[in-house]
Amino acid sequence: MNLEKMASFCKKKGFIFPSSEIYGGLAAIYDYGHYGVLLKNNIRDAWWEHMVQLRDDVYGLDSAIFMHPTTWVASGHVEGFDDPQVDCRDCKQRMRADHILEEFNIDADKASLDFINKELNKLKEEEKIKCINCGSKNLTDAKQFSLMIKSNLGSPVDTLSEENVVYLRPETCGGIYLEYKNMLNSMHPKLPFGIAQVGKAFRNEIVARQFVFRTREFEQMEMQYFLHPDAMDEKYEMWKDLRWKWYLEYGIPEEKLRWYKHNVLAHYASQAYDIEFNFSCLNSFKEVEGVHTRGDWDLSQHSKHSGADLTYTDEKTEEKFIPHIMETSAGLGRITLMFIDNAYTEEEVEGEKRVVLKLDKRLSPIKIAVFPLLKNKPELVEKAQEIYKTTKEKWMCEFDVSGSIGKRYRRQDEIGTPYCVTVDFDTLKDNTVTIRERDSMKQERVDISKIIDYFKSKLED
Ligand code: ATP
Repeated sequence: MNLEKMASFCKKKGFIFPSSEIYGGLAAIYDYGHYGVLLKNNIRDAWWEHMVQLRDDVYGLDSAIFMHPTTWVASGHVEGFDDPQVDCRDCKQRMRADHILEEFNIDADKASLDFINKELNKLKEEEKIKCINCGSKNLTDAKQFSLMIKSNLGSPVDTLSEENVVYLRPETCGGIYLEYKNMLNSMHPKLPFGIAQVGKAFRNEIVARQFVFRTREFEQMEMQYFLHPDAMDEKYEMWKDLRWKWYLEYGIPEEKLRWYKHNVLAHYASQAYDIEFNFSCLNSFKEVEGVHTRGDWDLSQHSKHSGADLTYTDEKTEEKFIPHIMETSAGLGRITLMFIDNAYTEEEVEGEKRVVLKLDKRLSPIKIAVFPLLKNKPELVEKAQEIYKTTKEKWMCEFDVSGSIGKRYRRQDEIGTPYCVTVDFDTLKDNTVTIRERDSMKQERVDISKIIDYFKSKLED
């Protein structure tokens, strides 16, 4: 499975479409279709359940995308949220310099421009690097390219004016830091505690050809955990372990995951690991989530720039301090791609190719598809409709009458539906239906009166 085949599968099956396609598209922006949004919402809910619902120490938040512009000055983004870029002088293709170096096992994540250019020049002299688009070796030096996307609010003029400038947030955690004080005053949590949120983030990414792996508008699922610095090591290990297990719980095989340890750390960080997944469509291990320590950098900076007191007082010891933070930060679109990539299976069944998405049932967009055996037999259609009406009150279901039963099964296999229910002529005699399971393709007869309990035990236990 390469990226092209993945993108075409996702488009054809109603998961993910290139945005604005009728106008020729917009680079690195994608829309989620019916099955895509259902899958993405299920992944988001699985994350939320694990990070908020099942915990007593994490609170939920949904902060605005626009924030006071000083937020991004305080966080250092306005000054330095850049990626190093190299341009091809011939075809103008833009490339990430750190990604070029990565190909030669040189870790340039967060490295200085001097370091990057020194390493690039060595490779240029050895004629080892060329443009990914046209193959030319006529490449520029690396220079920094800001990832921040500017807009303006309430301005009477069309152009961006400095007084009204606002940024589309490049990460969701900025809103968490700004609401730390309100959360403290409204929820009265004791340290350690976390604040989690899922929302859109925007980055003017340089390389724009990795499908939903790297987009300019994307969603993040982030949790910031506030603690006393003495608790950092223990809680960092705890969250690393919890996040790793979340992937396993939803069916990602351990051999497709690995930890990547950052050797060059942000100045405020003491530890930074990423969870990487081995994407078959990208033919390599790539980051899906970061688990990073951030010290007291964020709250100290926001306190300094806003003048607000962001200290915490320990009731027992009376110690007053700015809490330290560790974060878990995952991309929802990237993880949706990971689940499709992991689940996509081609099998041969009775001499024919079967494509099946072997998704964890909890994530499947459609849980049950209901079919009458034949569409021109009203008594079968009516019975199937009755079943569909009761099951869809509890789960996301689909009713399908078109084509042969075999074709209908295949269609549901391709979108990962775990169960198909068929109403046939025996149903009219004995009130039973055939239920077929996606992965084993095994079929069993179940009494209609027991269907809800059957699916409760299969889908909810
Ligand atoms: P990368 O090195 O891939 O650019 P990053 O280290 O800049 O990612 P973070 O800032 O740590 O990423 O963001 C946390 C998570 O958000 C990433 O692990 C990824 O899943 C997701 N993410 C970041 N940038 C993008 C993007 N442009 N498109 C889709 N998801 C993204």
